[in-house]
Amino acid sequence: MMIEPKIRGFICTTAHPEGCSAHVESQINAISQQSNIQGCKSALIIGSSTGYGLASRIMALECNAATIGVCFEKPASGKRTASAGWYNTAAFEKFSNDRGIYAGTINGDAFSSEIKAQTIELIKDKMGTVDCVIYSLASPKRVDPLTGETYSSSLKTTGDNFKSFTVDPIKEILSTVEVTPASEEEIAETVKVMGGEDWKLWMDALREAGVLAPDAISLAYSYVGPTLTYPIYREGTIGYAKKDLEKTAKLITQDLAELGGKAYVSVNKAVVTQASSAIPVVPLYMSILFKVMKEKNLHEDCIEQIYRLFTEKLYGKDGVVTDENDLIRLDDWEMREDVQAEVTEIWNSISEDNFQELVDLQCYQDRFYQLFGFHLDGIDYTKEVDPHVAIPSIKLCETT
Ligand code: NAD
Repeated sequence: MMIEPKIRGFICTTAHPEGCSAHVESQINAISQQSNIQGCKSALIIGSSTGYGLASRIMALECNAATIGVCFEKPASGKRTASAGWYNTAAFEKFSNDRGIYAGTINGDAFSSEIKAQTIELIKDKMGTVDCVIYSLASPKRVDPLTGETYSSSLKTTGDNFKSFTVDPIKEILSTVEVTPASEEEIAETVKVMGGEDWKLWMDALREAGVLAPDAISLAYSYVGPTLTYPIYREGTIGYAKKDLEKTAKLITQDLAELGGKAYVSVNKAVVTQASSAIPVVPLYMSILFKVMKEKNLHEDCIEQIYRLFTEKLYGKDGVVTDENDLIRLDDWEMREDVQAEVTEIWNSISEDNFQELVDLQCYQDRFYQLFGFHLDGIDYTKEVDPHVAIPSIKLCETT
């Protein structure tokens, strides 16, 4: 069948298998010119199929590391395409296998005890231990494995109402949005879903099962952003969850002391992913940021960020590079004074009449479509394509 993008709000409900494969390959190509990348030997990536997790898995492959990825993706069913993360994972495994490097995937709810147990069994079977654990989940819901209760995260402000311009980057409509403050319960639920509790459960389970190598490193990803977006991010519900994640790194580090291991939070740059496109106001901020950073030759996407993480901040000649709060700062270029001064200037002069010239919607749109395998060079989107693609290590693919 021919596969076209079908956009519903901030999500695309179709994905293109060849386009997703080309997208994974383009990320591999973006870094594989660099020779002699040192880093991990065997990595577990939790949230491995899209965005920062996929880029981390690709970077681990560039270090010639065997990888196990955990994700929650859907295979194709009848005429429904698989999710983009499914196609990405199938492509990633193929590229890894072509190099003779092991890649295995567990597709299921990472918050559950069953998936943790299955992952540990697979590590024991295929790798023995892992020396790098990357926690890159972004989810709207979590079922607590101990109580069975479901928690939902919300993307709200705290304190006062927050009124701001926002943009529908696909329809190219600028509008004003008013975000109401979250209740105490909504804040607590968001922390339950996106805070550090599950990261710690993973690390406890891996440590107790003896599958962490000596000196193992674990990383989780966070975002801070400028004061412009504080009401919706850093001081919003998600910001509470991220602060909890940052506190959890210290607890995990204490637990790993005997092994000589350490846990870090890496504060990454704002990039277009399925998770970030759901946050109000942030797509407008990103469209401005991309314009400014591109003009300054500082523009980075997930793969460039993770390349810099591995080569300069984690496994580089200076070892692990952190700020005074023990955070790895990959948002250093985004937060540069000159970058933020220009972003703020544009932000303050935006109106319905001029926003299309002042922001880089084209870059946002291309990045968004590429997440689902569209807008990639070299793909003939008028050609019939089979949506049923198997992930080699899962060997589950409906053929109807
Ligand atoms: P994403 O939506 O691209 O990726 C989410 C991943 O989580 C996918 O692999 C998905 O399959 C997996 N997942 C979701 N629910 C799951 C579940 N229940 N079980 C197993 N897997 C599940 O998101 P992203 O933007 O790459 O976010 C990853 C992390 O990076 C998040 O912590 C996010 O806050 C952080 N971060 C993102 C940005 C940004 O701008 N996108 C910036 C800084 C930090």
